[in-house]
Amino acid sequence: MHVSGHAVRERIEEVAPVALAESWDNVGWQVGHDGVTVSHVLVALDVDLRVLDEAKRVGADLIVAHHPLFFRPLHRLDPSTPRGRLIVELIRADVAVYAAHTNVDAVRDGVNGALAETLGLEPVAPLMPVPNAPDQWGFGAICELAPSSVTTEELVWRVHRRLNTPTPRVTPGGPTHHQRVALLGGSGATFLDAVAGAGCTCFITGELKYHDAQHARALGITVIEAGHYYSEAPVLVRMARWLQPLGIPVTVSQVVTSPFAPDWQSVKDQGRGEQ
Ligand SMILES: [Zn+2]
Repeated sequence: MHVSGHAVRERIEEVAPVALAESWDNVGWQVGHDGVTVSHVLVALDVDLRVLDEAKRVGADLIVAHHPLFFRPLHRLDPSTPRGRLIVELIRADVAVYAAHTNVDAVRDGVNGALAETLGLEPVAPLMPVPNAPDQWGFGAICELAPSSVTTEELVWRVHRRLNTPTPRVTPGGPTHHQRVALLGGSGATFLDAVAGAGCTCFITGELKYHDAQHARALGITVIEAGHYYSEAPVLVRMARWLQPLGIPVTVSQVVTSPFAPDWQSVKDQGRGEQ
């Protein structure tokens, strides 16, 4: 049983239209085209050599990835560079790559719907609506708990236990109890003002930089950083579900592609580099 690359692309774009992607993004075919034959799909957040090995192991001939392979133009294909080697290895293994990125961020059934569901929160509105979204959604999610509330401690615990974030980082800029919580998988810095504007006192996102965290404090917002990878990984199961009507096997990647060590203690066996 196999389908065409075209059929896979159509199915993804039916749920997450490419028109919803940000203008700087590079969604769609990264390696391959509509004419490729697909018998097994691996859904992953990132494509690296470990994910390619996983694709070969499970017999996948297409990786549907959240993060695109190409953001900057490639002037030459040099297999002695990490990126060049990855592309050469993908082609050698005859594994195609299709990316669905900010268009998956922008739909209700995408990154933030998956994040909310995993955290046991109910989205009532997007943080930033996107015009013409098929489900009238957009980037991020606002979750309403009033008249009830949730503590920062409880939310940090859920991030750790349900998203598997080894060490969530907390910027305690707001109150300890929250009735309105904002979510945004990935990098949430540019949404801080929208979080405050929406009356949310807690923001769960993937990552922030130092000065963004200072800004959050100034705005009176508590931020819980779940880690970029961990905040987005829940969407993989949903993306796999989107592909089920195609009738071919779909595997969700088990490779944790986060580049960071889980915590400083996990590097203790690697030596101190000093005598
Ligand atoms: Zn991301």
